[in-house]
Amino acid sequence: MQAWVIGNWKQNPATSKDVNTLLDNLLVASEDRGADNPYCHLMVAPSCVHLAAVSARLQNASIQVSAQNISAHSATVGAYTGDCSAQQVADAGASWTLLGHSERRQYHHESNDSLLAKLNCAFAQGLGVVLCIGETQEEYDAKQTISVLDEQLTVVESLLQTDSVQTQALAERLIIAYEPVWAIGTGKVPTVSEVSATHQHIKQQIASFAPKSPEVTVLYGGSVNADNADSFAASAMIDGALVGGASLKADSFLAIADAFSRAKG
Ligand code: PEP
Repeated sequence: MQAWVIGNWKQNPATSKDVNTLLDNLLVASEDRGADNPYCHLMVAPSCVHLAAVSARLQNASIQVSAQNISAHSATVGAYTGDCSAQQVADAGASWTLLGHSERRQYHHESNDSLLAKLNCAFAQGLGVVLCIGETQEEYDAKQTISVLDEQLTVVESLLQTDSVQTQALAERLIIAYEPVWAIGTGKVPTVSEVSATHQHIKQQIASFAPKSPEVTVLYGGSVNADNADSFAASAMIDGALVGGASLKADSFLAIADAFSRAKG
């Protein structure tokens, strides 16, 4: 299975000029590396406002583009002020979207119902989905990680009861990103064996919903950087990384991709 390393740029960079500088560095550094990362897909998720420009610049590069979110209200158009539909982000050049990031759950109170609506909108427009799940520090301390993840994964079970995705296509269209909330942007990370056991559980849980589906890709996210990427990449259960802070510098982002490429090659 080819690994995935995905950069979540969040509400960064500040200006179009800074976006272009980051892209310049990314393109130069990935060219310098020669044959790209044959064992690792690369993707970046810029803010909605930069999506079209980033997609245009990456059109001939082997770096895919993802949105960070889409509207739950409609896959296409409608009177939903402030929202961007799946159709609009696909038209801007995105082929994937992140959904359910903990910052969306925290600041926008995203529920399983709205995530299910978003998943259906994404699939209706041919977008793949990186579904983010993870427990808070309190839940981790109370040893509730698995029950929290199981509750968040019920959205996948519900999805399979709709018509929008065929069970066989699930593994091609859906990536799960396990991101403990307490590890995001904090420099704190769970041990590789904790992450591996959690990923094994996630894979088993999805397999129980969709026994005929090939194994789903599960990424780890939370303070991954150029120094710790090798240790996560060494686990057979960790199929890649969703990277926040370290994706805003081309060198650290590509060093993480190199670590996964080496380990999975
Ligand atoms: C994220 O927000 O998805 C993330 C993993 O952030 P960071 O790498 O900065 O912890």
